[in-house]
Amino acid sequence: MDDLRKEMLKTLPKIDEVLLILEKQNIYDLAPRDIVKETCRKVVQDLRDKIVNAKKKISVESCPDAASVASEVEKSIKGLYRYSLRRVVNATGVILHTNLGRAPLCPEALQRIVEVGSSYSNLEFDLAKGERGQRYDHVSSLICALTGAEDALIVNNNAAAVLLVLNTLAEKKEAIVSRGELIEIGGEFRIPEIMKKSASKLREVGTTNRTRLGDYEKAVNDKTGLIMKVHTSNFRIVGFTEEADIESLVALGKSRGVPVMDDLGSGCLIDLDQYGLQHEPTVREALATGIDVVTFSGDKLLGGPQAGIIVGKKDVLEKIKKNPLNRALRIDKFTLAALEATLMHYLNPVSAVNKLRSLKALTEPVAAVKKRAEKLITKLQKENFDSLKFSLREDFAAAGGGSLPTQQIPTILVGVKNKKMTASKMEEKLRKIDVPVIVRVDKDEILFDLRTVAEDDFDFIIEGLKQISI
Ligand SMILES: *Cc1c(COP(=O)(O)O)cnc(C)c1O
Repeated sequence: MDDLRKEMLKTLPKIDEVLLILEKQNIYDLAPRDIVKETCRKVVQDLRDKIVNAKKKISVESCPDAASVASEVEKSIKGLYRYSLRRVVNATGVILHTNLGRAPLCPEALQRIVEVGSSYSNLEFDLAKGERGQRYDHVSSLICALTGAEDALIVNNNAAAVLLVLNTLAEKKEAIVSRGELIEIGGEFRIPEIMKKSASKLREVGTTNRTRLGDYEKAVNDKTGLIMKVHTSNFRIVGFTEEADIESLVALGKSRGVPVMDDLGSGCLIDLDQYGLQHEPTVREALATGIDVVTFSGDKLLGGPQAGIIVGKKDVLEKIKKNPLNRALRIDKFTLAALEATLMHYLNPVSAVNKLRSLKALTEPVAAVKKRAEKLITKLQKENFDSLKFSLREDFAAAGGGSLPTQQIPTILVGVKNKKMTASKMEEKLRKIDVPVIVRVDKDEILFDLRTVAEDDFDFIIEGLKQISI
């Protein structure tokens, strides 16, 4: 190390000196001594590292004094009071955006979370019998009524549901899966890897594009624990393809005494065809084949909280419930409260489509989206943004969340050009404000997709644009 650097390290403020300044500024009203001290140490250590590793020539004058280190520490401690998990405006047009929290909850679900969460509840208490009950019981009757299942069990998410079913039915045994269904969902969820963790052995059959019933028949033996079907949620194989239908797999399973499972992924509870969307197999349809177990997510097409829902035959569900892993994957009371309220909307499917924001976004006629876009433009024009230019255009939105991957959903975009700023700079700035607005970028324009933007979001958009147009 050169002399200059050594000199600078020596002139770095002492921790005690910084603490003294902070104490005078009443820092201990904001955080206890240990946290303040540790933060000081970190800030000074960072300065040290910077001096040691600096590539450019540095000068002694640039070395911060105790006061500026103190203000750095204060900033860092105040940062702890800023919520990290925040609401954002999703202007991407991806309806079930996994990075943006998938399905927004309906008002009834939120109200139930507050009600149940702010007091004691009968979470695991059977009020009729006055004895211990099961937490799943609060939603299983609804789920069974809505899907035709004999029984239901809820866990943390669908990945957990798949792990639990595989481990219960195929531990140290083989689980037969088509090579065309060995998918990766994203976020490191790969079917072969989840199988390994469940201690079941993957028995691949068929080829990527074609798997026949005969392939499964040949693979069944006395080590088979499960025949598994996986919905290829986030991609489609087109062209020369073939897959065994569930009915024939169920018949095969019955004749050989092997349970059959379907990982449906999305968990659609209503017929989407009536809204001009591609057919997505509903949970009821999947169960009507006589299959033993079906798993699906709570926060994809269902439009509720994160959860993994396992439905199917009573005897198989009994086994799954007894698996000790179930305890480790269990759902919490807030999720149950939200799920119950979400499911209740499905008793009136038309109401479900209106009350659940993700379903509404998916099925809303493009004319209504256009109206909202025009309303936004009118509002924006009233603001007299000198440097901004607005335009309307047609495009396509997407379901996201690994649902309906090839479905093009017509939508309307509001484009914004800024004479003074590039689109990528605008995108970045909108991402860093109090209520971030997440947009699409296309060349020199940022785009708001009105399919995922509600009228409630308009003020946040206007506020954001005010901040980037000055
Ligand atoms: C999304 C998905 C999963 C994972 O579900 P999470 O609820 O995200 O854990 C598993 N299998 C399929 C087929 C999926 O589409």
